[in-house]
Amino acid sequence: MTPHLLSDSHPLFHELQFTLRVVRQAAQLTKQVQAEMTGPALTKSDRSPVTVADFAAQAVVSYWLAETFPRDPLVAEENAAELRVPEGKSTLTQVTTFARRLLPHIAPEAVCENIDRGTAAPALRFWTLDPVDGTKGFLRGGQYAVALALIVDGRVQIGVLGCPGLSAASLPDNAGPGSLVAAVRGQGAWSMPLDGDGTFTRLRVSRRSEPAEARLLRSFEADHTNTEQMDAAVRVLHLQAPPVAMDSQAKYAILAAGAGDLLLRLLSPRQPNYREKIWDQAAGALVVEEAGGRISDLDGKPLDFTAGRSLTHNRGVVASNGHLHEAALRAVRQIRQGDK
Ligand code: AMP
Ligand code: MG
Repeated sequence: MTPHLLSDSHPLFHELQFTLRVVRQAAQLTKQVQAEMTGPALTKSDRSPVTVADFAAQAVVSYWLAETFPRDPLVAEENAAELRVPEGKSTLTQVTTFARRLLPHIAPEAVCENIDRGTAAPALRFWTLDPVDGTKGFLRGGQYAVALALIVDGRVQIGVLGCPGLSAASLPDNAGPGSLVAAVRGQGAWSMPLDGDGTFTRLRVSRRSEPAEARLLRSFEADHTNTEQMDAAVRVLHLQAPPVAMDSQAKYAILAAGAGDLLLRLLSPRQPNYREKIWDQAAGALVVEEAGGRISDLDGKPLDFTAGRSLTHNRGVVASNGHLHEAALRAVRQIRQGDK
């Protein structure tokens, strides 16, 4: 049974119950795909496990969203174009096989239709989904997350991360049950085991305020950040510990749980005009804020979820326990001077 984190008179009570249930089930499905499709037989460059997990998770979340809140659009990362062409047929068969574990009678065509329902445009009230955030982590056996958020009037109201590679206390633990991390605006952030035994823990950011002691989180993938500037941040802040490299919004869960203090998404020199996708940030941002932390772009501006599928008005991300935010922004300003 899903624990009740909110009073049942809260206006988003049903939305939260729905989000917890679908993210939990989609995350467990991705874990099954990982267990059954990855292994020694697979070549390193074969992305098929994550492709199958991505599509199956999006099909399932989209199906249940349409059943539960039929008027709400879904803005999700994937579309079914590559499953509809003849070369995609065997992948579609695999996606359908996994989707049927949760939706026993779904037809391949309905799998595609549900995936494509996720190509809607943002509206006054809509949901945003990253079915597998951290695809490289998924393939490497590192961290990844199923991320679903509800956005109303440009503000994230619910954010839930299903993190199969985190412990219930939101620490990295690939052997554990995984964790489900949830936040509701104004109500707090919590973590619970992904397999749902009914216990949940309130998440609170760390109280660390001495920059040199900060535990800095960064992307594992060098191409998603700026490694030279990351090294410069370590020097400017006099960090004693090297940054912790981790894939996906699991980093936000770690920050919210007080197991990290600062997170930087610096701009990759290979994609200096990169804009963050809303599904890569919405759920994690609310988790950080509701655990008492702060999140902004590299210039200190709030993340603006009113501008479509990307954070068009923002560059990069700084997230922190709050205490370290101003020091982090000053350091970022200093190290980015050569950027502009
Ligand atoms: P992470 O695991 O934190 O590196 O974030 C994974 C997300 O980074 C993926 O879902 C991508 O959408 C996103 N991404 C892709 N290219 C870039 C880039 N150049 N800069 C920042 N993020 C990127
Ligand atoms: Mg992503």
